[in-house]
Amino acid sequence: MSIITLALSKGRIFDDSLPLLAAAGIEVLDDPEKSRKLILATNQPGVRVVLVRASDVPTYVEHGGADLGVAGLDVLLEHGAGWGDSGPGASGLSGLYVPVDLKIARCRMSVATRADFDYAAAVRQGSRIRVASKYTHIARQHFADKGVHVDLIKLYGSMELAPLTGLAEAIVDLVSTGSTLKANHLVEVERIMDISARLVVNQAALKLKREPMRRLIDAFAGAVV
Ligand code: ATP
Ligand code: MG
Repeated sequence: MSIITLALSKGRIFDDSLPLLAAAGIEVLDDPEKSRKLILATNQPGVRVVLVRASDVPTYVEHGGADLGVAGLDVLLEHGAGWGDSGPGASGLSGLYVPVDLKIARCRMSVATRADFDYAAAVRQGSRIRVASKYTHIARQHFADKGVHVDLIKLYGSMELAPLTGLAEAIVDLVSTGSTLKANHLVEVERIMDISARLVVNQAALKLKREPMRRLIDAFAGAVV
């Protein structure tokens, strides 16, 4: 029997995936917060879970380290910077198939600035703005669409600090409740897109393990609320 490997990241993706897995009849047998294991068994002998960094999920699935996985749209758009206008639709990039919006780990990608910054003036056509972000591809595309010249500064975390220290005038970051922005006296000045986690599938694995993969994908799709 062929084993199916599902890539998840610890934290909200894992936590929000558990109810979907349960609805698909899959129970993960280890708690990643208590164990150091990176490969987790499930109650189904044919399904195992591997724990990877959120941004590594598309890489694992693309290269067959996992047969499928759960990744945020933010991660997918940053990973597949060549998706262009089609977005991560049914036929994705390089053997990645993105068939289901799981509607979990929801948030939005937004532009934020200091409250005293005049964003409207800064983004008038033909102007220039300094933007810090972990999501440089999404940010670049967003400002290009607006016809705004952007100087992008790549960061890996603590983006709220950038406008406060003068590193940048604006940030592009994920927002859910807005409390982190508020705590740092930043305001959300523009919403770029809604974000949710998607099921990503390795197309070759789908061909090779057709029946069990189909069953699993259908079970996920049927569990979406
Ligand atoms: P890492 O912690 O490994 O650097 P990460 O910060 O992207 O990666 P998580 O914080 O676990 O990982 O977030 C995983 C996914 O959850 C994100 O890619 C995004 O799609 C989603 N998400 C939902 N709400 C938020 C939020 N408020 N902040 C960040 N990510 C969020
Ligand atoms: Mg994180």
